[in-house]
Amino acid sequence: MSNYTEDWMKKEYTCNGCSWSGNGGETARGIMYRGTFLELTCPTCSEFLDVLILPAEKGCAHSREGLSEEQLKAKEAEDEQERQYREKCLASAGQLPELSEGEITLSWDMEQDQTQIRNGETVIWNEPVVYEGFDRFEQVAVILKEKYGSRLKDLVPTDRSKLFLYGDYEPSLSYLKKVRKELFGVDAEA
Ligand SMILES: [Zn+2]
Repeated sequence: MSNYTEDWMKKEYTCNGCSWSGNGGETARGIMYRGTFLELTCPTCSEFLDVLILPAEKGCAHSREGLSEEQLKAKEAEDEQERQYREKCLASAGQLPELSEGEITLSWDMEQDQTQIRNGETVIWNEPVVYEGFDRFEQVAVILKEKYGSRLKDLVPTDRSKLFLYGDYEPSLSYLKKVRKELFGVDAEA
C-alpha cells in the first residue's frame, strides 16, 4: 500500500495480468472506498495493481470552530475512543515476545472483538479487531517482520478472521496476497 503523496504518480507499476507497465499517473483508478482508499488497476486489462491510502482528515483545533457544545462533546468522546484504540494497537517490535529458534509461521486470527496473532496455539499479540482491516494487517505484518526477520515465513489469516479482514471490499483479497508476496515471498491463495 502506498501512502498518498504526489509521488505515487511517478511510482512504477508492472501488471501481472498482461505486459503493461507504466507509472501511477497512467493507471486506471477505481472508486474511492470508505473515502480513504483509492484502487489502482491496469489500464489495459483491469488487473489489480495497488491501493492508495488517502490522508485522513485530522482532528485539529481548527475543525472545532462552529461546533455546538453537544457536537464538541461527541467529538471529544470520539477522540478519546480513538486514543484508547491506538493504545491497544501494536506499535513497535519491542512489544513482541522473543520466540525460540527456527522458522516461524504466524496466524492472524480473530476471537470475539480481538485480532489475535498466534504462534501455533500461543497468542503472542492481541488488539481490537478492525472491520476490513487489511491495511492494519499490513502494518502488523511489517512490525512482525521487523521483530523476527527472515525466520518469519508467513502471516496466515485464519478462516474465521477472513470475513472481517476482507469485508465487502473485493480488492482487499488481492491486496493481502500482494503484502504476503512482498514481505514473505509467499504465493498465497485467497
Ligand atoms: Zn494488465
